[in-house]
Amino acid sequence: MSYLVLARKWRPQTFDDMTGQEHVVRTVANAIKMNRVAHAYLFCGPRGVGKTTAARLLAKALNCENGPTPEPCGKCQACTEIAAGTSVDVAEIDGASNNGVENVREIRENAKYLPQRDRHKIYIIDEVHMLSGAAFNALLKTLEEPPGHVKFIFATTEAHKLPDTILSRCQRHNFRRISAAVMLQRLKYICEQEKVAISERALSMVVRQSEGGMRDALSLLDQIFSACGPEPKDEDVADALGTIDRTVVQDFADALVRKDARRVLERVEEVFNRGTDLKRLTEELALQLRHLFVAKTLGEAPAELAESERNALTALAKDADPAQISRLFDVVHGCVWDVSRAAHPRLALEMALLKAIQLSPVGSIPELLARVDRLAAGLGPEDARKVAAGAPGGRSSSANFRSH
Ligand SMILES: [Zn+2]
Repeated sequence: MSYLVLARKWRPQTFDDMTGQEHVVRTVANAIKMNRVAHAYLFCGPRGVGKTTAARLLAKALNCENGPTPEPCGKCQACTEIAAGTSVDVAEIDGASNNGVENVREIRENAKYLPQRDRHKIYIIDEVHMLSGAAFNALLKTLEEPPGHVKFIFATTEAHKLPDTILSRCQRHNFRRISAAVMLQRLKYICEQEKVAISERALSMVVRQSEGGMRDALSLLDQIFSACGPEPKDEDVADALGTIDRTVVQDFADALVRKDARRVLERVEEVFNRGTDLKRLTEELALQLRHLFVAKTLGEAPAELAESERNALTALAKDADPAQISRLFDVVHGCVWDVSRAAHPRLALEMALLKAIQLSPVGSIPELLARVDRLAAGLGPEDARKVAAGAPGGRSSSANFRSH
């Protein structure tokens, strides 16, 4: 059997399988149960989050021999043909290449006739925002008074480009980007089933790069599997994705928090020699510091990260001070633009990182107060009173500890 790409192999075949779009699934399933299915649906949302998949599932739900049902059998002729895209009564139309008025006229002519075999004639139009103005006008008439056996399911990434007249005649559902934690779980499951030994850390790189699109994430996995075989190593995954190995970014953050300027400079040299895109690195580092701040604030690292990464981050957060992390973030985030525009990006990055180390506060307020207490305790009662009152003698001793 030829290789089936993961996005097709793992395309959800039931509403329950649809990862991250529970809010849409619930409403649509209820409508089917209560026999209140609209005649036109509009599925909007970013690319690769399951709009077309949901459209096919809805078509199956409506036309399944055992339906209409929110749980189509997946086995009858209607279900299998819809899944394969060969059903006579379900037309999948790419709006980008069939955007003319003549294409819509053809749909209108066809829609008059009863379905050949199944319950409904269903038109799924993908990228519907690409239709021409005249095509939308032609579509409008059918949308206003569609024959009872006709259903339309439109999908688009750019709902704002649709005329209001079309929008107002559709039941609209907004698909969301899939959250990083949910996607990580799903990818882990798929990799287990595919018997590929890939680390959670590597998967979280995939999650980050795919920005909430399941289809993109699965395409990236395909790419990794073919480039790195069944046991991909983290650094090979990073190379295959063209991203930066997470351990490098983590080490940078660690060195910054610990004010280890020597290590910072060594790491910059390493990544520079490896040919890493320094702007990308700076962005990743800013993101890492954001995660660190989250970990400090919430007491736990963001769920979208691999477990080993979360542990390292939580531990580092314990040793860091909020004001310090915030300062580090400001400097690193602020230099992304500089690094991308500088004649010598390496120089810009090195200077920014050293500055970040120099400028970050010496310690937290409670830590400083404890130091003051310790110093005051070492002095006689008379001197301690002077320190408290900010007398000249006291000020010189506070100046002393500030320089440490
Ligand atoms: Zn069926």
